[in-house]
Parts: sequence; C-alpha cells; structure tokens
Amino acid sequence: MKIAKGKVVSMTYLLKNNAGEELDRSQPGEPLVYLHGTGQIVPGLEKQLDGLAKGDKREKLVVTPEEAYGELRPDLKISVNREQFPKDAELEPGMRFWAHTPEGQKHPFTVVSVTGDDVNIDGNHPLAGETLTFSIEIEDVRDATKEEMEHGHAHGPGGHSH
Ligand code: ZN
Repeated sequence: MKIAKGKVVSMTYLLKNNAGEELDRSQPGEPLVYLHGTGQIVPGLEKQLDGLAKGDKREKLVVTPEEAYGELRPDLKISVNREQFPKDAELEPGMRFWAHTPEGQKHPFTVVSVTGDDVNIDGNHPLAGETLTFSIEIEDVRDATKEEMEHGHAHGPGGHSH
C-alpha cells in the first residue's frame, strides 16, 4: 500500500535545520501517526512522502521555508508599549498571545523580551525562514477509517485518543 490522500501513515523522523542542528525527532517506539493529505505535516514534506510504502527510508528530504513554516517576516517583530496589555498580564519572555498583524489578521505572537515599558514581540513561527531537512522511515501505511476521514485526523496509538 502506498502513501496517498486518505491513508494513515506511521513514520519515524529526524528533523534538522540548514546548519545541521537537530531540531526534533520521534521518540523510540512512538512514531508520528498522521492522516495524509490533510495538512497535518508541513506541505513540503507531505508532498515528498506521496507514493512511499512501508519500510521505505529517505535521508535528507529538503523542505524550503515556503513549503514549511514560511519566510521570516521582519515586520512581525514589533515593539509595543506595556499599556497595550491588560494591567494584570504577567509579561514574560516566551508568553504567547493573539494579536493583530499590520494587515489586521489575528495571529499568534510570542513575547521576546521586556525592557521597561517596551515589550518586544515576534509573530514569526520559531521555524520560520528555516530550510528543514527530514530523514524518515515509513513504519506503516493503512486505510483511514470512515471516522478518521470525518474527523480529519488519525486515531489510535500515536493519533488522537478520544
Ligand atoms: Zn477524531
């Protein structure tokens, strides 16, 4: 059985950035399980997994920022005044919240630093601008159940439990 839209894929992976630093990997015995063709993994990887089968291994599948988490947007690194937050908000680096982009779209931001009344925030995904390299091994490919198709995600071990 080959990976295609509507198949549930179990795979192990190792993710590195362009500098060769490890960013993430699946834990032993805990493969990533996802429903193919639903955008649950980055588009550039999903595309390259199309047609692979159980047992297939691929080293160094390269995914550009456009097909991963987007280009780095300097305009989403903003300094705002503390007054723009609720008075009782505890502003600490790493805090995440929703705000509007310069175009007026709702968007998740992260507090980078707080200096006096200036709060530096960043709306870029932590992996924005990164070219990603995946090494993967396909452990299993199966048909999605009707319920999984309706929900748009995989169930069972490694998938959703609900
Ligand atoms: Zn579900």
